[in-house]
Amino acid sequence: MTARLKKNFLASKLSSSESTLPRTMDAYVLYNRQYKILICRQHHYAIPQSWVSRHFQKHHKETPLETRNRIEKYVAELDLLRPEEIEPPQDMVPVDGLTIYAGYKCLYDGCLELAGTEASMAQHCKVNHKWIKSIGVKWEKQTLQTFFPSPYLK
Ligand SMILES: [Zn+2]
Ligand SMILES: [Zn+2]
Repeated sequence: MTARLKKNFLASKLSSSESTLPRTMDAYVLYNRQYKILICRQHHYAIPQSWVSRHFQKHHKETPLETRNRIEKYVAELDLLRPEEIEPPQDMVPVDGLTIYAGYKCLYDGCLELAGTEASMAQHCKVNHKWIKSIGVKWEKQTLQTFFPSPYLK
């Protein structure tokens, strides 16, 4: 259960307009105090604390070294959770700064599975619900967000 929880989560309501999230180093990173995550402004995903330096070295070569050092210093002082410690939101309010993408939601009773592609959802239904094609589609489109892209999830 926990492994699945760390991946996708629902985000179908409109973003809340109240700006409760403090913004610092706004042009580069966004610290989300509620979930204790750091979101890259440019890539729209969360970066684990231990990856920040690598992330900026690899994906933000255009950012001056001095700025990158400042970001690293700033991030080192933040209270951030590790990817495996983070609980995804249950309120369906999109997390500011993260990409919203089209995915699928399992419609079997009591199942909360979410998947990024229809193929992976079909696979989930086969394995978990003994689903076969003749039953017909047992999922529906659902907008999703994910904190960490797969390279960060071991
Ligand atoms: Zn980035
Ligand atoms: Zn399911």
